[in-house]
Amino acid sequence: MSDQNPVPPPTETLSFDFIPTRAAGLQRLSEFLPRAGKTYAFERNYDWGPEHRSNISGLSPYIRHRLITEDEVFAAVLGPHLESEARSFLHEVAWRTYWKGWLEHYPQVWRNYRLAVTRRVRAMEKSPTLLEAYDEAVDGRTGIDCFDAWTHELRQTGYLHNHARMWFASIWIFSLRLPWELGADFFLRHLVDGDAASNTLSWRWVAGLHTQNKHYLATVENIVQFTSGRFNPRRKFIDDNARPLNWEDLGPQELLPEVPEIVAGLRTGLLLTDEDLSPQSWPLGTEGVVALAGLCSADLRSPIAAGEVARAFSLGGVEDGLSRAGALLNLRPQRLDDEDWVRSLVDWAKTEGLQQIVTAYAPQGPVSERLAAAFRKLEPMGVHLAVIQRPWDQTAWPHATKGFFQFRDVIPKLVRL
Ligand SMILES: Cc1cc2nc3c(=O)[nH]c(=O)nc-3n(C[C@H](O)[C@H](O)[C@H](O)COP(=O)(O)OP(=O)(O)OC[C@H]3O[C@@H](n4cnc5c(N)ncnc54)[C@H](O)[C@@H]3O)c2cc1C
Repeated sequence: MSDQNPVPPPTETLSFDFIPTRAAGLQRLSEFLPRAGKTYAFERNYDWGPEHRSNISGLSPYIRHRLITEDEVFAAVLGPHLESEARSFLHEVAWRTYWKGWLEHYPQVWRNYRLAVTRRVRAMEKSPTLLEAYDEAVDGRTGIDCFDAWTHELRQTGYLHNHARMWFASIWIFSLRLPWELGADFFLRHLVDGDAASNTLSWRWVAGLHTQNKHYLATVENIVQFTSGRFNPRRKFIDDNARPLNWEDLGPQELLPEVPEIVAGLRTGLLLTDEDLSPQSWPLGTEGVVALAGLCSADLRSPIAAGEVARAFSLGGVEDGLSRAGALLNLRPQRLDDEDWVRSLVDWAKTEGLQQIVTAYAPQGPVSERLAAAFRKLEPMGVHLAVIQRPWDQTAWPHATKGFFQFRDVIPKLVRL
């Protein structure tokens, strides 16, 4: 790869402006379509900076919150493009599906990560040396020009190019020698697309904890080439010879959980969360639906406060989802208090006299943690939880047990959905 001549950035500028609505997501998708074929495959690895984003889609915050869905993206791309032309883009979209499905099979990896972040934050509070090194990294004061620039970019925009995320994570783990969980937590708090599966598992992949003996090392040459010379870090700062982190047991591979189905004839409340904000495509009749509410999990991402840009996107997305669902169902939407999900859901069920709450399946992450806690309280009160699962996830996830290369075989099935 390093023998190639770098591709210079295009002359026209294009910056991402993340407006948290489905309409904005659909517009971004339609504007990106002409570039989703061979141009994407050829140029996608270049990080030309925040003003030159024409080589990638910027769809991740929309897909992450399911303001637009993977099947919509596939269908739209396969309108103007042959599958063979758009393969590279379709595969990237499928990476998200793969990570989500894989974490469903290995939920202990998420639970371990959550415990480790809390432990690491506490340990840092007791270690002035670690705290100083951490603060330098998250304030963009390490003296490594590219790393510091990416830190500022992430905090200001809520976004980093995929390649920058890989270099950043690699420098964090192998050059700065900081705990990977604290880096993953920093990303999760600030990314507008911050996602339990894609983020945690990508950090683990860089560290060498996803595939044994395979880690990702940033090199000066690769950074120079794929930033088209914007950055040229000093060689002594970048350890491109480090060993992967010590392999950890993944815990048992678990079966995908049974999904509790909708019971007809019950007084039902529809709950929207930031895991799936496209209720217009939920396979659901409106009969018996008497109440509509929304909760946002932005503040549950970490024991440390979420970044403002990321938080605002998730909150805005929930508002947008609620207003669309309200129009669809002819119901007045309610924003429940995000501070205490269990109390909010119990109070909502009591006030509305609900016998059933229907929501979209929440994969491993903060939403599924809180829903599980709430339903331990609601079930004894006689409130049934029903979950809607999308055919996309049902088709793809059973195949996400090994590596992405095995998972790829399911993509033709997803194309036909
Ligand atoms: C350390 C690290 C942390 C990451 N954390 C997240 C995260 O929290 N949330 C997140 O959505 N992505 C994450 N990614 C994946 C990837 O960097 C982003 O999805 C991508 O950069 C988003 O920009 P885009 O929409 O322009 O992508 P495009 O290149 O246009 O890709 C199209 C879509 O495919 C999906 N996608 C692309 N690459 C990947 C990938 N490697 N893994 C998973 N999905 C992918 C996204 O939904 C994206 O919108 C992470 C990657 C790394 C290396």
